[in-house]
Amino acid sequence: MNTPDTARTAPSPAPPRKPLMPLDEALSNLLDRAAAATPLACETVATWDADGRVLAQDLIAELEVPGFDNSAMDGYAVRLSDLLHAGAEASFEVSQRVAAGAAGDAPLASGTVARIFTGAPVPPGADAVVIQEDSVVDADGRVRFTAEPRAGQNIRRAGEDVARGQAVLEAGQRLSAAHLGLAASIGAARLTVCRKPRVALLSTGDELAMPGEVAPADLPRGGVFNSNRFFLRALLQRLGCEVTDLGIVPDRLEATRQTLAKAARDHDVIVTSGGVSVGEEDHVKPAVQALGSLELWQVAIKPGKPFAYGRVRRDASAAGLDDAAHFIGLPGNPVSSYVTGLVLLRPFLLRLQGRRDIVVQALPATARFTWDAPDPKRREFLRVRLDASGALERHAHQGSGVLTSVAWADGLVDNPAGQTIAPGDVVRFLPFSAFLD
Ligand code: AMP
Ligand code: MG
Repeated sequence: MNTPDTARTAPSPAPPRKPLMPLDEALSNLLDRAAAATPLACETVATWDADGRVLAQDLIAELEVPGFDNSAMDGYAVRLSDLLHAGAEASFEVSQRVAAGAAGDAPLASGTVARIFTGAPVPPGADAVVIQEDSVVDADGRVRFTAEPRAGQNIRRAGEDVARGQAVLEAGQRLSAAHLGLAASIGAARLTVCRKPRVALLSTGDELAMPGEVAPADLPRGGVFNSNRFFLRALLQRLGCEVTDLGIVPDRLEATRQTLAKAARDHDVIVTSGGVSVGEEDHVKPAVQALGSLELWQVAIKPGKPFAYGRVRRDASAAGLDDAAHFIGLPGNPVSSYVTGLVLLRPFLLRLQGRRDIVVQALPATARFTWDAPDPKRREFLRVRLDASGALERHAHQGSGVLTSVAWADGLVDNPAGQTIAPGDVVRFLPFSAFLD
């Protein structure tokens, strides 16, 4: 597993420290770069298959929904003025029967009522529906009412859900179950969506072993199972990407260069984990610099400082692609990789897809824990869990290698640099579920 290092370089003197870039600045930089990229092409997919896709055009209704006034209940359609004139004890002839699916266009004869069922068109002239629980059918088949209806009662009006010409869904909307139903309700069988970004994923590290290839009992001292590869692939797929997994790249500059150059050819984005720190075994940064440019490196967050963004040049003749692929380097430490995956990689990928709703709103929540040694310079993201009362507990081990903290947590507390937390304090809670909507 420990590949001999042929490209080891002498340690260079440490450059003067400059302040790390604040998260908000890094994020707006990333979003600007995603917005400046050539938009991903559109494609149409069956509404059936559009779950999780991002709508590329406003979806306009060509009809109103409901298409006709219809009954919200099973009962009798009545003309209120007839009921008023006849008095409380009067009974009425049932002159017609309208079930769901009937045209229901015969006007209600005056002095009579219509038997009607949920979803059936209200006959012209009727202005309320009395539910059958408030109706009594006499032996002669005539109907009396035990409650006095209000005008319009139990009638669902034409167009009350959707107006003709209305944009029921807007471009940039990620489609989920309710949206597919709404699209179907206006008769849309196909939807125009954004093509999925093609993302190449690669892990760096000579220490990495693959589950399945090495048995846990055989993992040598110094070896680590590749966990990042598993959660990053799942995260990327949930964020709407088509992932090519390029496996593990050894800690050598030339191998890293070759893999990045190959990945750039036919991917929109290259995501790496590990190898972007300051050690001399960290070859990703110099490889990106050699193949393009490193435009952002190190962000003032904990965990997740060694985050990087850059471009890797490619042959611009590839149809519909910019002349460089985006490069996003995530830290190797699993928790750092996960957190930067959520707070930096996610918004970048969503903006690339034209998504509009990319900000995760922090919810105010009460801490049930103490945080008394905050990082003085970096904004921190603490792994926390909701208790039964809706307050937050903190995982005891906030180390950047402790992946159990992420699996245990319901989300993150977004804590300003230097801020201590005491039980009872209101903090900013970012639920994991909101990141993956
Ligand atoms: P690096 O950023 O490459 O210096 O890695 C930082 C730490 O994260 C080291 O302890 C690595 O062993 C660990 N690490 C890097 N990549 C992975 C990975 N894919 N899965 C699990 N741990 C990793
Ligand atoms: Mg490494």
